[in-house]
Amino acid sequence: MIVEMDATRTENRERILVVDDSETNLLLLTNILQLEGYEVETAQSGPEALQGARVRLPDLVLLDIMMPEMSGLEVCRILKSDARTSDIPIIFLTALGEVPDRVTGLEVGGDDYIAKPFHPDELRARIRAALRTKQTHDQLRRERENLASQAVTDPLTGVYNRRLLETRLTEEAARSRRYGHRLTCLMLDLDHFKRINDQYGHPTGDSILRQFATLTQSCLRGSDILARYGGEEFVILVTGTGLEGATATAKKILRTIENHCFQGVKGQDLRLTTSIGVAELLPGETPEQVLARADRALYEAKRTGRNRVVCA
Ligand SMILES: [Mg+2]
Repeated sequence: MIVEMDATRTENRERILVVDDSETNLLLLTNILQLEGYEVETAQSGPEALQGARVRLPDLVLLDIMMPEMSGLEVCRILKSDARTSDIPIIFLTALGEVPDRVTGLEVGGDDYIAKPFHPDELRARIRAALRTKQTHDQLRRERENLASQAVTDPLTGVYNRRLLETRLTEEAARSRRYGHRLTCLMLDLDHFKRINDQYGHPTGDSILRQFATLTQSCLRGSDILARYGGEEFVILVTGTGLEGATATAKKILRTIENHCFQGVKGQDLRLTTSIGVAELLPGETPEQVLARADRALYEAKRTGRNRVVCA
């Protein structure tokens, strides 16, 4: 059973899971930590600690080593090998003189240890240090994830960018050659988009492109890849289906755009259409070649009247 000591959790209070088989120790530690403003949860055994950590994802675990059912070392090993909990810092509580345990503790992934009997000041300082390190790690990870997502995302529309498209097209074409999977490229753009920019200004043009990307995305399956290729031109990679399936998708996009009432920034309602070229990767064809054929099919769709799908 996980005892929640304080139900009035606010967003920025850090949550500490205290694990000890001794009730006296739990009370003592809880008192000290609550006075510091932490939210404290407790567990009296290894299995209880594992469950508490997985369900509540604390910011830190204070972990007794000597417990009857399952030792703190085993708890640590399990938490550190589970991706959901591996980032949670663990501070061991160990009785003075248990030197081999301390070494093992750090070897199984513990971040620090405190010898019992401990001084409250030392406890507070070590907890603060571990939480600071975790904050720095979390921030670095968020920044890394941000950078990674910026590197593959088109900032205006939020769909993938051309660089990601080219990488994925190369990978999918290789897979197609190796396993015989079918791969189809759709190239599409908004008809007469230049007129929108000229007539209503670029903020309206940008807003239209965002709406277009969202609408198009809504017509796709999770495995399809939509990327902004440049200007008002987008490319979709459809995997696992050939020309027929991809053409059906293209027609769905065509109708969705045709039937949609686009909102201009000044509240104008604008009706727009799209033209789409479709090309399936042929045996022996390079990524550039299939893209070029999709582009020519798009050109053909424009030339023959727009608001249509043309297959290469
Ligand atoms: Mg104990």
